Amino acid sequence: MSQNHTDQLSSLLAQSQNTVIFTGAGISTESGIPDFRSPGTGIWTQNQPIDFSEFLASEEARKETWRRKLQIDPVMSAAEPNTGHFAIAQLVQTGQVSSIITQNIDGLHQKSGVPDTQMIELHGNTTYCVCLDCGTRHELQPIMMAFEADESLPLCQECNGIVKTATISFGQPMPEAEMARAKEATLQSDLFISIGSSLVVYPAAGFPLLAKQNGAKLVILNREPTQLDVEADLVIHDEIGPTLNKLNF
Ligand code: NAD
Ligand code: ZN
Repeated sequence: MSQNHTDQLSSLLAQSQNTVIFTGAGISTESGIPDFRSPGTGIWTQNQPIDFSEFLASEEARKETWRRKLQIDPVMSAAEPNTGHFAIAQLVQTGQVSSIITQNIDGLHQKSGVPDTQMIELHGNTTYCVCLDCGTRHELQPIMMAFEADESLPLCQECNGIVKTATISFGQPMPEAEMARAKEATLQSDLFISIGSSLVVYPAAGFPLLAKQNGAKLVILNREPTQLDVEADLVIHDEIGPTLNKLNF
């Protein structure tokens, strides 16, 4: 009798000495945060992304960015980790998973109990802000309140630089330290599991491929097919929370 997909994933986990999990927006849809590319519900069916160069060059683009932030923030700040996040946190806590590389900016893996030391955020975090010139951290709430009052744009209290949420926009350089940590974790893994990512955003989507080329087993868990499915040792086209909660570990 052939094993079903979750049994196969449980066996791969049991055999692995070093598993890395890579997540995308799909892990957080069950928490009520829409992803980018799901047909019909994805954020981009409504808004085209604003490129980093546009954000820097145009006050109107910065205002539009903050308008969108104010629109999405109630959903983001009310979101709680879901059963998928908790299953992953348990795999980290039992030592079966060494690191989580995420493209998400919502902080829900940390909220579900994954320690910062085992988290690698490739696209930053939208729950706080930074100055683009000097890197000083700024809290979100006062900035959003000021913008809501009269659309005044935030400037750094230290150096007058432009303040932006601590996320990586399209066209913005990737964070070097996180990229280096992600590469190291990927190269050390013998099992690499991609969960809830359409695997079209590079360089992030390069990590599953790097793992595979380096000899790791590659698993892809996503509702829809991805272009890397052909490279994977196991592909599961199913819902994330229910699938991870069927694992035996
Ligand atoms: P994506 O939107 O391109 O792909 C998400 C994938 O998850 C889709 O292929 C979809 O079929 C699948 N999916 C959605 N819900 C699922 C579920 N419950 N079960 C199984 N599969 C499910 O997301 P991406 O690949 O992460 O790339 C988008 C970029 O958008 C990332 O860089 C990320 O930074 C950003 N983003 C982040 C958030 C967040 O932080 N929660 C939300 C939206 C976008
Ligand atoms: Zn500054």
